[in-house]
Amino acid sequence: MNGELTALDAYTNRVYKIIMLVIPISCLCASITITLLHYLGYYPDINEFLMWLFDIVDISFLVTGLYFIKTGFDKNGFVIRQKLIYGKYTAAIIAIIQWNAISYIWPFRDLWAFCLLFTLGEAFFFDTKLVSFTSLGLVVSMVISWFVKGDLLLPVRDEFFVANMTFRIVCIILTMLCINIVTFFGGKFLVEELEKYVYRDPLTHLLTRRRMDSYINEAYKKATAGTSTFSLMMLDIDDFKRVNDTYGHDCGDNVLKFVANTISSGVKNDDVVFRWGGEEILVLVNEDEKTAAETAEKIRADIENGRIHHKDDINVSVTVTIGVCAYRDGLTAEQMMDIADKNLYYGKHNGKNRVVCKTE
Ligand code: GH3
Ligand code: MG
Ligand code: MG
Repeated sequence: MNGELTALDAYTNRVYKIIMLVIPISCLCASITITLLHYLGYYPDINEFLMWLFDIVDISFLVTGLYFIKTGFDKNGFVIRQKLIYGKYTAAIIAIIQWNAISYIWPFRDLWAFCLLFTLGEAFFFDTKLVSFTSLGLVVSMVISWFVKGDLLLPVRDEFFVANMTFRIVCIILTMLCINIVTFFGGKFLVEELEKYVYRDPLTHLLTRRRMDSYINEAYKKATAGTSTFSLMMLDIDDFKRVNDTYGHDCGDNVLKFVANTISSGVKNDDVVFRWGGEEILVLVNEDEKTAAETAEKIRADIENGRIHHKDDINVSVTVTIGVCAYRDGLTAEQMMDIADKNLYYGKHNGKNRVVCKTE
């Protein structure tokens, strides 16, 4: 397989494992603490049925977290993208449920401070949407609880009440703002920049093979579920060696960039283009066979008609051969790759500069 774990993968893997475990475990700790305090007589007013229900729900959170850790990785040790998204939001929802459960079963004036902690936990993913979702969910829950159980969740109504409330609200606004800003900039400048180096090829700026499996598996799952379809195109520049030999490798590099750009602008935004190897490019399009063949044909013609200016006086043009394979019932993703590849080589042996999409 093509992917060694990068620093970014290692970070994501670890954060995923830790957060999917730490959030349920801290919920369970709260549960145990509350149950113990109750039986030791420190909080006698609690509704025991609700308390035990809450304990069972907290155990189910831990089971959920363990399930996500157990099923979250593909055979190469990468977190599965879909699992990562579901896992992150499950952890956020767990935090919101837990916060609400505690504030109604065991109301306590200083409980508000825990919503800052739960939001902070989600910040390690550097996912702006997730953190704004969590902070909004928790803050809204908190404000509602102040109205429903204000007698137990708001400060004591003495001469310090207004001052207490002001500090509390300022602290919540500033801390939530701070967590959201750190997440936003961390995501933008740390993760996005790192991703560029890790997943993009420096010459063509296409995606590398590193994450190809996860994109293909995702498309494959959706196709088997019947929600969408997809096709693979394997593309190879014709007689590229001759370009290198005649005009030099610099010119060859420019040709590659031109081909990559032409393909990228010839497919839709949610289609994915990978640099598969030297001058071979793999495209995943969310199209059926007929449309994919038309797209491939348009790309082939655009490349054939393009001129690459190299130095002042040299204009080079190249052609490509494209093998296409569309998803259909009973085909595995590996078989699809194999058929696309065979179609490409069929094209290479039958005149090049053409699109082949034979189905067997
Ligand atoms: P065919 O039509 O059969 O594909 O002929 P071809 O000459 O393209 O043959 P082949 O695919 O075997 O050749 C690939 C060539 O691509 C060989 C290698 O020098 C060149 N190549 C691979 N990566 C790069 C690159 O990054 N830059 C340049 N300039 N050339 C590259
Ligand atoms: Mg070639
Ligand atoms: Mg080749």
